Amino acid sequence: MRLSLDHYRKIVGDTIISDIYKQASGFYKRKILHINSTFYGGGVAEILSALVPLMNDVGIAADWRMLRGSPDFFNMTKKFHNALQGGPINLTDMKRRVYIQTMIDFASYCQIDQDCVIIHDPQPLPLIKFYTKTQPWIWRIHIDLSSPNEELWDFLKEFILKYDNVILSSKEYRRKDLPVEQRIIPPAIDPLSVKNKDINGKTILKYLKKFNIPTDKPIISQVSRFDKWKDPVGVIETFKMVKEKVDCRLVLCGSSAIDDPESHQMFTRVKRRINNFIRNNDVILITSDNNILVNVIQRSSAVIVQKSIREGFGLSVTEALWKKKPVVASDVGGIRLQIKDGESGFLVDPQDNNKFAERIGAILKDPKLGESLGERGHDFVKKNFLITRLLLDYLNLLKEIMRA
Ligand code: UDP
Repeated sequence: MRLSLDHYRKIVGDTIISDIYKQASGFYKRKILHINSTFYGGGVAEILSALVPLMNDVGIAADWRMLRGSPDFFNMTKKFHNALQGGPINLTDMKRRVYIQTMIDFASYCQIDQDCVIIHDPQPLPLIKFYTKTQPWIWRIHIDLSSPNEELWDFLKEFILKYDNVILSSKEYRRKDLPVEQRIIPPAIDPLSVKNKDINGKTILKYLKKFNIPTDKPIISQVSRFDKWKDPVGVIETFKMVKEKVDCRLVLCGSSAIDDPESHQMFTRVKRRINNFIRNNDVILITSDNNILVNVIQRSSAVIVQKSIREGFGLSVTEALWKKKPVVASDVGGIRLQIKDGESGFLVDPQDNNKFAERIGAILKDPKLGESLGERGHDFVKKNFLITRLLLDYLNLLKEIMRA
């Protein structure tokens, strides 16, 4: 079934639906192009899968293209991603050359004649230099930019300065040293996607059985790419502490995205850690890229964890809150926008495994506490982080810069 804006009315109410239609009327037949570097895995693909069809539904001619790149290119852009979040990088001439050549290649087979171009994240950022610019270009950066590696930032700025607008997820990421207009638009989830929609108990049981996930003990889960920034090893350490007090099971669910070449390495590390310490099927690793399974795992969890070291926003947290689940997550980046500590979940210093374990244990021992945190989390997401709000924010910005 193709979703249309009307389907969201029952969830978000009439006012925002009407506002969206009103704003969209300025854009009939105007062409908008989104470019990112993966069709699946990770938050950006998740957002675009919902946003682009809705833009089309309300009368915009929206298109979504994917940057093709070699393994070398994605290895290098993953290093850029790490360095933008504060990690080190050796920015060699070779890296710069691979980066730029990928843009030249793309520009040789991809025509851009749309009325506005929205570039997502650092991978396709320099494309702007390889087209004759006849329309507004927006750079939408989804990661935490508060302490980037300075050498890399300076290199990337050459391209960013050409943009008409930069979209960030949080005001904390605003850069004083960037004269381009910066707009804050937090991401959002699609409450009607396969990953987030309501599912019945029978379907949940069917999937739990199919993927060998027993329900004899409460489940703690983290749904995240196997990435050092998501600290899956820390989750296992924390789980061991919780398990000393309350018997439970850990499910780590992490598919990989093609633009994340490090995930295989991290997965191997996680597997080794589990084999060394934990037996009896008490830690379950899921690597199947399956939206309904993510939905099932989140809905079957007693506590959902997000132990990120850095987190641009953290759609996995939004998804968990939407499902009324208590979330214990790191007090970092975009997670802070989503959880009020002690009210709609718990925020914990990501280095403090003891505190993480203590919070998880408290919820396991007191399911009523989990329920009330989850209820408040759901209400907050409903007000702030659903796809309709994101669509309206985009329309408002596009109206300004396209003078529609
Ligand atoms: N995800 C998934 N399967 C997995 C792991 C993650 O579908 O095995 C999804 C997750 O549900 C969420 C997105 O990937 O929609 C992760 O987005 P987030 O913003 O949390 O992190 P990112 O991967 O973009 O850093």
